[in-house]
Amino acid sequence: MIAVDKPSERTENSLLSLVIPVYQEGGHIKSTIKVIEKVLLVNNITYEFVLIDDGSTDNTWSELKNLAKENDRISLLRLSRNFGKESALCAGLEYAAGDMVLVMDADLQHPPELIPDMVKAWLEEGYDLVEGVKHSRGKENFIYRACARFFYYLIYKSSDINLGRASDFKLMDRKVVEAWKELPERALFFRGMSAWLGFERKEIEFDVAERVNGKTKWSLLRLIRLAANAITSYTSVPLHCITLIGIIMFFGALLMGAQTLFMKLSGRASDGFTTVILLQLIIGSAIMTSLGIIGIYLTKIYKEVKSRPRYLISKYIRGGDDKC
Ligand code: UDP
Ligand code: MG
Repeated sequence: MIAVDKPSERTENSLLSLVIPVYQEGGHIKSTIKVIEKVLLVNNITYEFVLIDDGSTDNTWSELKNLAKENDRISLLRLSRNFGKESALCAGLEYAAGDMVLVMDADLQHPPELIPDMVKAWLEEGYDLVEGVKHSRGKENFIYRACARFFYYLIYKSSDINLGRASDFKLMDRKVVEAWKELPERALFFRGMSAWLGFERKEIEFDVAERVNGKTKWSLLRLIRLAANAITSYTSVPLHCITLIGIIMFFGALLMGAQTLFMKLSGRASDGFTTVILLQLIIGSAIMTSLGIIGIYLTKIYKEVKSRPRYLISKYIRGGDDKC
């Protein structure tokens, strides 16, 4: 049983934890954090930062340490290698102590100006989950946009979870964080998981700003992996599709079989070379694709069964500690 019924006190002084995964963002992380912090200070929000260095190989970690030296409201985590954004988020959520936790990106694509509105929705309107939804997707090329559409369409059709405009920019009440932490799976998809959790939710629209500096970390291959992971995490529809294709092909086979027999018996059978080749190609690719789909699920099961930790932490610096 997950204990989620203990209501947290909501006051003006409630602590907001900002969980921000940071990977190869050394060039601008300092100024980015300052921009976010300014919004918090101007609006009198009590806050702490939990910044997770997801195994960066540039100067990110030293920049983060400099930040933490100057500011004891900043805690730092360094993962032992690059585990990916989802795992970095998990680590951050584990260490965040706030009554509410805000998850956002380190590149200012999630506008900090919205934070006061999100906190207000939590504090005054009593929402447990305040989600930033994308009003516009910012600058993306045509192919990327088309792929994203197709991916969200697949998820929506197969699992009824609408992620089309969802983002990782979310403010969560403590009880939502606790519920999230209880979820046992290793392979995570943060956006989908919080949609699955439910709770009293409010959406706030935002325009995705351009990245302040550097490039997106999502190569096409990583995106495809994320998409395959997300789809197979939420639905077994691809497996059922295999059965469906099998049934359709079976009826096709019956018809073709009857026709072939009829031609043979009536002495009109032609040599049929093309047909044989075509059939072999179709059946061959259907079998390979099906095996592939089953393989993806099998890998997932294998990974879950191994139940390795989602991430490993190599360094932890708590805000105010003098270990920097
Ligand atoms: N990120 C991370 N680990 C990774 C890739 C990205 O922690 O392996 C962080 C990155 O530093 C940023 C956020 O995840 O704070 C979003 O990454 P990015 O801007 O590259 O993604 P996009 O905005 O293009 O979806
Ligand atoms: Mg970004």
